[in-house]
Amino acid sequence: MSQSTMKKDRLTRRNFLRQVAVGSSLVCSLAEGQVLTAQNPRGTRYDLLIKGGRIVDPSQSLSADLDLAISGDRIAQVAARIPETEARQVLNARGKVVTPGLIDVHVHVYDGVGPHGIPADPNCIAKGVTTVLDAGSSGAYNFPGLRKYVINVVDTRVYALLNIALIGIVDSGDSPYTELLDLHYSNPKIAVRTIEQHRDVILGVKVRLRANEVGETSDHDLAALKLALEASDAVKLPLMVHGATPGILPLLRKGDVVTHCFHAGAGGILDEKGRVLRAVREAVGRGVHLDVGHGRGGFNFAVAEQALAQELLPGTISSDVHFFNVTGPVFDLATTLSKFMHMGLTLEQVIERAATNPANTFGFPKGLGTLAEGAVADVAVFWLAEGDFQFMDSQEQSRLGHRKLVPVATVKAGRIYGSSSIPIVLMER
Ligand SMILES: [Zn+2]
Repeated sequence: MSQSTMKKDRLTRRNFLRQVAVGSSLVCSLAEGQVLTAQNPRGTRYDLLIKGGRIVDPSQSLSADLDLAISGDRIAQVAARIPETEARQVLNARGKVVTPGLIDVHVHVYDGVGPHGIPADPNCIAKGVTTVLDAGSSGAYNFPGLRKYVINVVDTRVYALLNIALIGIVDSGDSPYTELLDLHYSNPKIAVRTIEQHRDVILGVKVRLRANEVGETSDHDLAALKLALEASDAVKLPLMVHGATPGILPLLRKGDVVTHCFHAGAGGILDEKGRVLRAVREAVGRGVHLDVGHGRGGFNFAVAEQALAQELLPGTISSDVHFFNVTGPVFDLATTLSKFMHMGLTLEQVIERAATNPANTFGFPKGLGTLAEGAVADVAVFWLAEGDFQFMDSQEQSRLGHRKLVPVATVKAGRIYGSSSIPIVLMER
């Protein structure tokens, strides 16, 4: 084969691969044409340069137009005007927002097991979320499957909270019977044994309580809470509580997490006049974390707006994305963050609550949720779209927002992904 034919073949193949890659992602929807170029030979200083974006990294109080260089799986440098010639691949982020890879501390990605599970990669890493916490989809009896068929297999970095119920989450729209219906299936001893065997990926315990019509927790659910506290005490890991009524807040300890904090059901954070309850302030003062956990029933605009007006901010913003809300109203974490920006939080504040704070709330490995030099090269690139966007909460209240974070690309440990689960294919010269 002549040299010119070889070159032509290579170009054709490169174009083909680029079409395949772009065709299966949302990268092609960008106005500026080609986003990623692979232009420099090996031997350059950096593997990937993310050029020209607005870097927002609350862990370093950074919000400025800067370049970000990656070597291998680490952040090598964040600085102004890093030359393109120093990098093997360049991602054009001009006009985009560049953040640490987001950390969603409430998702359900036990795909195919239990009614809530959805595939992790199309809904997480393809949407700027490099790291997630599966919040109790599994209990001790089915956690090994979550590890074997999800955690060990998918590209998204998946950690878990273990449900105190041995069978994990079991209720659905068709069957309201939850995993706590019979407490014989909640067993701290077996939960602790499972956690000890999987401490590298289980970062806490989950319990889902239900308030009654007057906003109190039943004796039955208090008994379940006791079992969950016993397990989390024994392993010294935080407990995430769904349905934490004001009555049970005093039982929670520093480091525990109240998810669905802005729900509108009985036992919420506001009194009948819309004021934040003293029990909530006290719990937050003691170091109990408030987490959004949007979900199907866990986020209400009116509640959140009243809380924010009284300067009660969530510590973490999570999506609780699962089978029953992934097609709306949740969609993904970026949409959830956009709702909080509509309510007045700054871009920096929402990224802090979806990267910096999550990294500090749970025992993730060090080096996540930050773009500090030497940290794991997890990066998310967003387009901050402007226009009219209808945002919906869990009760179908809508708000008209004007800015929306749209995921463009994700980098996990130095490897780049498009806005789909299929990695962008690069050709090297
Ligand atoms: Zn959930």
